[in-house]
Amino acid sequence: MTTTNCRSCGAPVTWATHARTGRPAPLDAHPHPEGDLAILGTNPPTYRHAQPGDPQPRYRSHFATCPHGPAWRGDRTFPTAAPTLGETITRAAATPPMTDPEDTR
Ligand SMILES: [Zn+2]
Repeated sequence: MTTTNCRSCGAPVTWATHARTGRPAPLDAHPHPEGDLAILGTNPPTYRHAQPGDPQPRYRSHFATCPHGPAWRGDRTFPTAAPTLGETITRAAATPPMTDPEDTR
């Protein structure tokens, strides 16, 4: 699984695509007990909302945990790779934040 660093805060993140929508999102690279996402595959990594009883480790969306998240989480055309994140921050600053990066579920 490829890990990169968030260009906003430098935290390690894993890019994964939603299992159903195909939308890429950065997940915290390390599992978290309160995470609500499960990574299903590694090539390429896909994720979905964890179900009760899922054996996989739980991950949190970096949308939710990035200290700079409020500035860029509202961009619905989030880039497919981290290197363009800086441009997105500027563009997203003028748009209202959304409540859930996976509200299409
Ligand atoms: Zn960050």
